[in-house]
Amino acid sequence: MTAMFHPEPAMCHYPPSEAVDAVVIGTGAGGAPLMARLAAAGLSVVALEAGRQWDPAEDFATDETAQNKLFWTDERLSAGGDPVAFGKNNSGIGVGGSTLHYTAYTPRAQADDFRMRTEFGVAEDWPIGYDDLAPYYDALERFLGVSGPAAYPWGPPRGPYPLMPLPLNAPAQLMERGCAELGIRTSPAANAALSGSYYQDGVGWRPACTNRGFCQAGCSTGAKASMDVTFIPLAVAKGAELRPGCFVTGFEHDAAGAITAVVYVVENGALERQRCRHVFLCAGAIESPRLLLINDMANASGQVGRNFMAHTGVQLWGRFAEEVRPFKGIPGSLISEDTHRPADADFAGGYLLQSIGVMPLTYAGEVARGRGLWGDDLRAHMRGYNHIAGINILGDCLPYAQNELVLSDESDARGLPKPLISFTNGENENRMNAHAEKIMREIWDAAGAQDVWASPRNAHTIGTCRMGTSEDHAVVDADCRTFDVPNLSICDNSVFPSALAVNPALTIMAVSLRTADRFLEG
Ligand SMILES: Cc1cc2nc3c(=O)[nH]c(=O)nc-3n(C[C@H](O)[C@H](O)[C@H](O)COP(=O)(O)OP(=O)(O)OC[C@H]3O[C@@H](n4cnc5c(N)ncnc54)[C@H](O)[C@@H]3O)c2cc1C
Ligand code: SF4
Repeated sequence: MTAMFHPEPAMCHYPPSEAVDAVVIGTGAGGAPLMARLAAAGLSVVALEAGRQWDPAEDFATDETAQNKLFWTDERLSAGGDPVAFGKNNSGIGVGGSTLHYTAYTPRAQADDFRMRTEFGVAEDWPIGYDDLAPYYDALERFLGVSGPAAYPWGPPRGPYPLMPLPLNAPAQLMERGCAELGIRTSPAANAALSGSYYQDGVGWRPACTNRGFCQAGCSTGAKASMDVTFIPLAVAKGAELRPGCFVTGFEHDAAGAITAVVYVVENGALERQRCRHVFLCAGAIESPRLLLINDMANASGQVGRNFMAHTGVQLWGRFAEEVRPFKGIPGSLISEDTHRPADADFAGGYLLQSIGVMPLTYAGEVARGRGLWGDDLRAHMRGYNHIAGINILGDCLPYAQNELVLSDESDARGLPKPLISFTNGENENRMNAHAEKIMREIWDAAGAQDVWASPRNAHTIGTCRMGTSEDHAVVDADCRTFDVPNLSICDNSVFPSALAVNPALTIMAVSLRTADRFLEG
């Protein structure tokens, strides 16, 4: 393999005509950790990323509208009883993927999250469990510099977080007050933003969070552990090549069906190809199945695109007499997992409660959508924005065959079929949301909120290429290798067999590191 080091930037460049050991498609939570792990093991790695590489200090404005560039806004057709809002609500584009705009809540899944079928007789058990991922959770929390409490109240016993908790913002303090009145335990959340400056392998010193609250519009300081300031520079330092602005459209195969090259479109519209020995598809739970369906690949099970899930995520908003300024401070502040398995549940699974920090345009959008307020009514409501605070849940969503992604007969600007995603909450999700709304109303009443209103919501794109033990009903095995294509692995939010009652990013990263290790073990 011919590799040349270029002084500016210091990155390896691999000739497209020579087969690299691995091509990684997508550089988000699923792609970036394994990219770094494979490069550190000495493999030649090329990562193809559809979006741009940003310089946060130069390119990230404290301006929600300017930062819309971080979101995947190509049209996705949305259908079903509860059509999911895509675009700004759901996934990102650019080096770092959706971690560019995530809130950085990084709780671990609990052990029983991986055993929904065993525990409740619904959904699917994962073919791996908490014990398989625990060493990766430990390593990730250390590497990313996760801030959190010394003693986390829920889940299996674990050591303290490497950094002390971030300060609670005003919505978190109000939630803490309401929960204390009701005897609901709370804790400062685990958050992958630095409460103190932190030295990171391959990167150097990253600065402490300045609490400006713009995490969902991109962190301009590098305090938030998005992939572009953590695993990507590490991967490049270890010899990986990063190619932004490369949209993958297809694959070349040999007679046995193995992939020999990845085909992609560059920014000037030209078609290029990178020869390779193995492919890691990490394009997220919409674009990964879409690419497979377009290329009629890895779908002997008929499961590609099936079992689309989106966390139950009802939000509750209230107005407080005191000034809240909900944009200030770290937006991912306070958590309670007391509702992980509620004693009075009439549903399977569970959920967690989290405080919400919200920027003004995002909140105005919620009000327009959730309360139907427009024009003068919306303006009048927004005059009280500085007194608004919110709580939301993240809870299990069961996999249903009818919630699926298929290719539509409409084409996008590249001439590729747009994805059509159908989603309807089942009885389980409706009961969970109702249970959560009741508890959150009690919390907000106890905290002194007025004009309380609920905004129904499903969050995150999950499922569509699920992991399992049998090629009859899963797309990838426990190590994320596809059953059908000998040198193709998938690693992103699409491989989750069940949704887990926690925010997904830390578990996606843990699965990513494990996928790399299992691959390296042969
Ligand atoms: C507003 C918001 C806040 C969130 N907050 C949290 C949080 O606090 N905690 C948490 O755990 N999760 C959070 N999430 C969810 C979390 O960010 C995602 O679940 C996670 O980052 C998804 O990782 P992924 O690797 O599956 O996909 P992504 O991170 O979306 O990565 C996919 C990458 O593939 C690229 N790509 C796609 N198609 C192609 C192609 N054809 N060719 C080349 N590249 C391609 C994309 O550009 C993208 O970079 C949040 C999400 C949103 C929308
Ligand atoms: S609040 Fe902290 S982590 Fe979030 S964007 Fe600002 S500096 Fe970054």
